[in-house]
Amino acid sequence: MTAHTALPHSQDLLDRAARVIPNGVSAGGRDVYRDVVVRAQGAYLWNAAGRRYLDHLLSYGPIVIGHADARVNEAVHTVAARVGLTWVGPQAGEVELAEKIVEVVPSAEKVAFLNTGTDALQHALHVARAATGRRQILKFHGHYHGWAGALGVGANFDVAPGQAPPPGAPNSGGAGRGVGDDTHVVEWNDAGAVRAVFEAYGRDLAAVFAEPYLHSYTNAAPAPGFLELLRDLADAHGTVLVFDEVKTGFRDHLGGYQAIAGVLPDLTALGKALGNGWTIAALCGRADLMDLLGSEVTMDGTYYANPYAVAAARRTVALLEDGGIARMNRLGERLRTGLAQAIIDTGVTANVTGIGSGWIVNWRAEPPVTFRQAVDADFGRAEAFRLAMLDAGILLPPYVITDNRICAAYTGDDVDETIAAARRAFAMVA
Ligand code: PLP
Repeated sequence: MTAHTALPHSQDLLDRAARVIPNGVSAGGRDVYRDVVVRAQGAYLWNAAGRRYLDHLLSYGPIVIGHADARVNEAVHTVAARVGLTWVGPQAGEVELAEKIVEVVPSAEKVAFLNTGTDALQHALHVARAATGRRQILKFHGHYHGWAGALGVGANFDVAPGQAPPPGAPNSGGAGRGVGDDTHVVEWNDAGAVRAVFEAYGRDLAAVFAEPYLHSYTNAAPAPGFLELLRDLADAHGTVLVFDEVKTGFRDHLGGYQAIAGVLPDLTALGKALGNGWTIAALCGRADLMDLLGSEVTMDGTYYANPYAVAAARRTVALLEDGGIARMNRLGERLRTGLAQAIIDTGVTANVTGIGSGWIVNWRAEPPVTFRQAVDADFGRAEAFRLAMLDAGILLPPYVITDNRICAAYTGDDVDETIAAARRAFAMVA
């Protein structure tokens, strides 16, 4: 798999794709690879030339049990053979999955199933606006909440019009797009900036959106007391607190990061790992807010709570509960410890951050706690490291400030292979 030069076995499909699909792929960022994957199993991908890659991209998060997991797929095939997609009333699987989420996610009183994380966050926005009668929102720099509207990718970068977004920033083409007068964007972990926005606009703020543990760009924990501050200010101003747990949910903890932090939002967006790659997302939270869905706020999707995705999610959650998350956390810790030691031994200026199954090497002296710090890094070395890892058969995300992860299919040997390759790559770029 190469980053910039197409291998002969991929060129034909790439050429055909460029003729009939805008930008040659149906999602931004997939065009970085000049290669085509023909098989995925467990922790591995193979290209058409038969080269195997250890996958730390894992589709940006959904693959939590492993690629093409036979147990998850069997659950889908069974429901597809028996009932398929119908449009009549609630389905048993849908109810059982909702009951499970209410059981494990601390703030969930009611749950609605949707297709994507973007769906869940857009519905959260509409619910918050309907509940408060207000329009404005507060979000954090570098927190990704899907591609749409006031929460969209443009809201990640507070660059001036015409100015380029930070190097290495994904979705750079969207800079400035989608951010309107309704969106306040402040730095993650900046308590003073949050207080200032609430002081000036508190009575107009419908919602605060945050990834409670920042996974989208770098990995950065909330500062001690920061989530509590958001909770207190939201309560004091009648603002809805929304946690985007699209990446943290069913990965860092079965109950999401809120179960680790002990701070409960009003609404929670879930997606990605919930379905191990089958398309499903959820919005859950306070019953009085959730009950606005289907009454004051339209919620309609042909494929919402489709039985295939629901079956995949039920089996995925069962496997995560049955040791899957504990295994990922154990191996993730081993990986981060090994990488940190390799950094010390090779003397590169870098550090590792992450929790659970997540990890990232930050190419700067101190771990970043804000997005500004995350992009104040040695991108030259970061990219050289990524390419050296790719050469060694280790696939990392194409943008150097986006996080990496493992899944439950990883073995100790896979983790050690990653550490050994990183040690060689660190020495190479030092
Ligand atoms: N929220 C977070 C934290 C994400 O990482 C993503 C996707 O990367 C989304 C929301 C959007 O989810 P989707 O791509 O399923 O619309």
